[in-house]
Amino acid sequence: IEEALRQAQKIEAIGQLTGGVAHDFNNLLMVISGGLDMLDRQTDPARRRRLMDGMVQAAQRGASLTRQLLAFSRRQTLRPEPVDVALQMGGMRELLDRSLRGDVHVEFDFPDTLWPVEVDPGELELVVLNLAVNARDAMPNGGTIVVRGENLPDLNDEQIVGDYVRLSVVDTGVGMGPEILSRVFEPFFTTKEVGKGSGLGLAQVHGFATQSRGMVRIRSEVGQGTSIELYLPRSHRVPPKERHLIDLN
Ligand code: ADP
Repeated sequence: IEEALRQAQKIEAIGQLTGGVAHDFNNLLMVISGGLDMLDRQTDPARRRRLMDGMVQAAQRGASLTRQLLAFSRRQTLRPEPVDVALQMGGMRELLDRSLRGDVHVEFDFPDTLWPVEVDPGELELVVLNLAVNARDAMPNGGTIVVRGENLPDLNDEQIVGDYVRLSVVDTGVGMGPEILSRVFEPFFTTKEVGKGSGLGLAQVHGFATQSRGMVRIRSEVGQGTSIELYLPRSHRVPPKERHLIDLN
């Protein structure tokens, strides 16, 4: 019975997933096909430009949705290896700058020696990218995002025991109230406009953290900001020096 229930839940989740994504894609395709239709009849250069910008944006959102979805469905096949988080984050600077706006900046705060952690490096990058984009969206008037790494020796928590690295992404944005906080890890829960948010970001972050034998905690205050904290297990292996990054193109 347990197994049958799990199976049923899985099928329901897959149904939700495909339904939600089909809906988002449909909206984006409507923007593009409707835009092309109007473009055909529009002669004013400024209006044509605006239409085209809108279509490019819709296409980019579609691409980003696909990326998130792929990351989400890859969950089962995470390949943990020793990762130097500070090095990895340093390599993400350009990617982050490209994903943020001019009035949103990223600062890194790492100790001289941060322990290596045992995670899937590609997935870690997607997770941090997700968190940075959420932080950006929470700061409509701009601000600073701090990405912080800390060694936490001999952690003795209800959920995890041992040596952990805490990787936090901190913003000074709008924050979240209890009703939102209690739902953020649900797949497809989003407060963003249709087409802007997939609601998969934090579900993916949660999946990544638990599958890496760590956990994720959120501290947030309305009007003050949010700190998303990933607890990742210390690795006792030596990480490689060079890394490839997510290819955004
Ligand atoms: P999405 O970003 O596509 O909406 P997520 O799962 O990443 O999906 O986030 C779910 C919701 O959680 C967001 O719509 C937003 O309401 C809230 N949220 C996430 N991160 C933050 C943050 N840093 N500050 C405020 N709210 C946030």
